[in-house]
Amino acid sequence: MGWELRREMRRSNTVTGNLITTTIRSPRSKDAFASFGLGKSLLRAISEAGFQTPRPIQAKAIPEALTGRDVLGLAQTGTGKTAAFALPILERLIATRGRNPRALILAPTRELAIQIHREIELLAKFTQIRAITVFGGVAAGPQIKNLRRRPDIVIACPGRLLDLMGSGDAHLDGVQVVVLDEADHMLDMGFLPDIKRILAKLPPRRQNLLFSATMPREIRSLANGLLHDPHTVELATAMPLETIEHALYPVDQNRKSALLRRLLAADDFKSAIVFLRTKHRAKRLAQELDRAGHRAIALQGNMSQGQRQRAMDGFRDGTFDVLVATDIAARGIDVAKVSHVINFDVPGTPEAYTHRIGRTGRAECSGKAYTFVTHEDFPAIKAIEKKLKMEIPRIRRRADEKELEADTQAGSLDRRNNTGGPRTSKGSGRPWKGRSGGAAKGRSSGAAKGRSSGSARRGPTSGSASGTRTPSKNNRKRRRMGPKA
Ligand code: ADP
Ligand code: MG
Repeated sequence: MGWELRREMRRSNTVTGNLITTTIRSPRSKDAFASFGLGKSLLRAISEAGFQTPRPIQAKAIPEALTGRDVLGLAQTGTGKTAAFALPILERLIATRGRNPRALILAPTRELAIQIHREIELLAKFTQIRAITVFGGVAAGPQIKNLRRRPDIVIACPGRLLDLMGSGDAHLDGVQVVVLDEADHMLDMGFLPDIKRILAKLPPRRQNLLFSATMPREIRSLANGLLHDPHTVELATAMPLETIEHALYPVDQNRKSALLRRLLAADDFKSAIVFLRTKHRAKRLAQELDRAGHRAIALQGNMSQGQRQRAMDGFRDGTFDVLVATDIAARGIDVAKVSHVINFDVPGTPEAYTHRIGRTGRAECSGKAYTFVTHEDFPAIKAIEKKLKMEIPRIRRRADEKELEADTQAGSLDRRNNTGGPRTSKGSGRPWKGRSGGAAKGRSSGAAKGRSSGSARRGPTSGSASGTRTPSKNNRKRRRMGPKA
């Protein structure tokens, strides 16, 4: 293709094949982006966005993607994957003509779709390229109207896009590039069948870009079927960013709440995302913190799209400084300057641990990732440490045990919440006894989570965006099938 050749020639130091890894070059920022052969309007936007040097994933993926080759990008959150696919796509769209939409980006959640949209608007600021978003949980009318105007790029969640393809509102016969962002997350949410259906309807001659933080078997096989001779970029996948300081806080279940409030009162606290297993408990903890005078808000799957957006916006602009979230609701969320990630409940899998703590230490800021562990969480912690190949430091708090005890007397979510889960007859402060079975095997699993707390649970997707997607037979079916068991 002409545009690729022209671009290739613009690049003074042509990069070939696997030597890409050696191209993290001169510290002089703009030159580095310029050497990719990106056009002036993009370089200007990059510079205005404050991007000094390409991130490793960008340095490795952009030159190859620009040649039109398929790319498999494996990197944890916060490493700059969005620009890694957005820049080559924009360059291609600027340089070519064709029937719009010419690029399709699939993302697992609305929040992520919105985030990608925002980044693309930033980077496309000085171009004529237009992008729109398509996702469930909101009226389809405006999206249909936007689709009629034939935008260059569609950023979509699979469920709603399929609906609009079915109703004849979304025409994808001009798509030249497709991106699957956070593919592992899409798998978790049970989107794989939808994705396959969408891919089957796209023109066969196209560029495919697949990004994922982890590579479970199903994603590997999806990648094998989808990508042709892909250039693979792999950054130490399961490894958390080095800018993050980890610690484990051994704590009794009924003291978690008091411990959390103490951490939030510490000097180094700026803002935190606190992770819980279930929507219900997230909601209650947010209310409890709010009553205790913190500016806290929940982000969980039972909230409407509007509520979630307000929570996100409020957290982003500093109206709230504590976001109490469930895994799926918060995944991929990119908010700069989150000083703490607190795992109020131990994440179910090593991948979930990496995803959660990846919410801090972003964009070269440092962050702290604290995980509350009860006695029975240790097998799960072992599994995480094994996968990360590191030992997470334990915080010993004997000295302030008494104080914490006093705080606990003030009453906390944990004790009251005992009504939400099976009470232990021993009264040992282990309201989520059921979970330990799963944790003991070092695995999260839907089943283990599903057993957690009474009314709050709806299986492994609890806290997911699925509750707010367009209700349809298909969706119900998808939900029933759920993610991998
Ligand atoms: P990922 O998709 O890998 O989780 P993002 O693409 O969301 O990561 O990027 C994380 C943050 O880093 C975003 O705020 C993005 O604007 C910023 N960013 C991306 N590339 C660069 C760069 N080269 N220099 C500085 N900031 C960057
Ligand atoms: Mg991303």
